[in-house]
Amino acid sequence: MKKVVAIDGPSGAGKSTVSKEIAKALGFQYLDTGALYRAVAYYFSIKFNYIDDFSLLTEQEIEEELKNIKIHYKNGRVFLSGEDVSDFIRDPKIGEITSQLSTQKVVRDFLMPLQRSFAEKVDIVAEGRDMTTVVFPDAWKKFYLDASPQVRAKRRFEQLIESGKKITFEEALRDVIERDKRDCSRENAPLRISKDAFYIDTSELTLQEVISIVLKKVAEDA
Ligand code: C5P
Repeated sequence: MKKVVAIDGPSGAGKSTVSKEIAKALGFQYLDTGALYRAVAYYFSIKFNYIDDFSLLTEQEIEEELKNIKIHYKNGRVFLSGEDVSDFIRDPKIGEITSQLSTQKVVRDFLMPLQRSFAEKVDIVAEGRDMTTVVFPDAWKKFYLDASPQVRAKRRFEQLIESGKKITFEEALRDVIERDKRDCSRENAPLRISKDAFYIDTSELTLQEVISIVLKKVAEDA
């Protein structure tokens, strides 16, 4: 395995922007594992567009469908059977479905080898929910980025408005709380702070400050 900087944390803690910048600064590849889970959810949302509640599907049904899914990831873009779905997967509705499907062990098992394969050839910065705990427990460096639900909802709200999505702050906050609940309480690979991860509360920090802290920490015990 090559060098892995593993970054976990809840939705809206700033993981994506920070991870991208850290990857750039270190000359590592950036791996957004949320995008892989979102691509799976996007596939299911198209295939089963008549259901809202994905807990209605049995594990067996999900497993059967996974056999048809071909995901590629390159330079921060994700492809489903060759089609670039990177923009579609950002829809809040897909975020909701992703959080439902990612509770399923079959889905997590399906994406595990793909995630690990990235670290076979190149050094990476991998961000997600279980990078430090499950996917890369032997990562070179581990970080956990956090922030209060209000701050995270505000960031998410501004991000979505900027990208032209219609959402209210209350909806963004509800979404953050709902997702936290699901990501933390699920049986399979729940979001938790790894004992050996460096914890950063980003609530009161600027992006640049967070990036500096991470880079300093990486350099410190490199
Ligand atoms: O990071 P992002 O918000 O794009 O992730 C969307 C959802 O995918 C999360 O809420 C979580 O349910 C799931 N996810 C996961 N494990 C990962 C990355 C994402 O369960 N490593």
